[in-house]
Amino acid sequence: MSLFNYAVAKTIMHVPKPIVSYFAKGYIAGSTLADAVQVSKDLNRQGMMTTIDILGEFITQFDQAIEFKNQALEILRTIDREKLNGNLSIKPTQMGLLLDPERCFELIHELVSEAKKLGSFVRIDMEDVGTTDATLEMFDKLRWEFPGHVGTVLQSYLRRTPQDIANHADGYQNYRLCKGIYVEPRIHAWKNTQAINGNFSNCLAQMLEQGAYAAIATHDEFLVFEAMHLVRKMNLTADQYEFQMLLGVDEELREIILAGGHRLRIYVPYGRDWLPYSRRRLKENPSIAQHALKQMLGI
Ligand code: FAD
Repeated sequence: MSLFNYAVAKTIMHVPKPIVSYFAKGYIAGSTLADAVQVSKDLNRQGMMTTIDILGEFITQFDQAIEFKNQALEILRTIDREKLNGNLSIKPTQMGLLLDPERCFELIHELVSEAKKLGSFVRIDMEDVGTTDATLEMFDKLRWEFPGHVGTVLQSYLRRTPQDIANHADGYQNYRLCKGIYVEPRIHAWKNTQAINGNFSNCLAQMLEQGAYAAIATHDEFLVFEAMHLVRKMNLTADQYEFQMLLGVDEELREIILAGGHRLRIYVPYGRDWLPYSRRRLKENPSIAQHALKQMLGI
């Protein structure tokens, strides 16, 4: 990590709560599921799909995992009842992965079973590299039992990702591909931007050639351009992949993707546990803190 990035990473953790809160408004649907439903309906009306995520991660008591699982069940049932064009995203550490991996698997199994019953889908987000093996193991078990109803995430900053794609070449495969958001040691992760981007494009080609469904999750215009070129070259139809973006980021790019005839899904987080999520977003893009501060101060 460069000295500058190190300084930014340290400082962001101490950005005052009101500034983080101000910044968080555009990135988070609100504090309740009703807020996420409203935002999803608006996005659906504008031709976008959504994936709803309840904020919370790295829990410390297994009771919290059960509570999160119950809330996630409620999301699936609400999506069905409200006829939203959306699905569910969950985090393994929110379901107790670091406390009890077997019970965590049982909770996620229950969610994916419910998704199957409702004709829906659960995306298992990828967290830091300490959880990659366990997350992929859970996905590997679930993909045979629930093809079409479960997927996970692979990160192009990890050097292991091409091997992970190759390891799952048989049977049903469904990945969100993103750059990766955690600060990982260089032994595991590319640090050079071009290496991360090159790995992104190569991994996307590898997974599509292997027959995977790919959710292309990036706001990087060059990677979007490369992905559009690739899907055209491979003659894929629009239902064989999708683009994904975070709520509140680059609405112009949304329009460009939709105008190209591609499907786009927006990640819609909600909940009271917005502080760690927002700090991560700020750490990733510190210029946002500056814009938020300027707007607050009217300068
Ligand atoms: P960048 O080079 O970071 O960004 C490209 C441009 O987009 C920047 O110039 C900037 O203007 C803009 N931009 C990017 N991010 C933001 C932002 N937060 N706010 C404002 N502008 C921004 N990571 C994981 O590790 N695990 C996951 O499960 C995961 N799920 C994700 C789901 C979705 C739908 C998306 C879109 C991202 C997800 N990520 C996840 C985060 C991802 O790994 C990246 O950290 C993040 O998307 C930024 O990378 P980028 O590809 O957009 O490229």
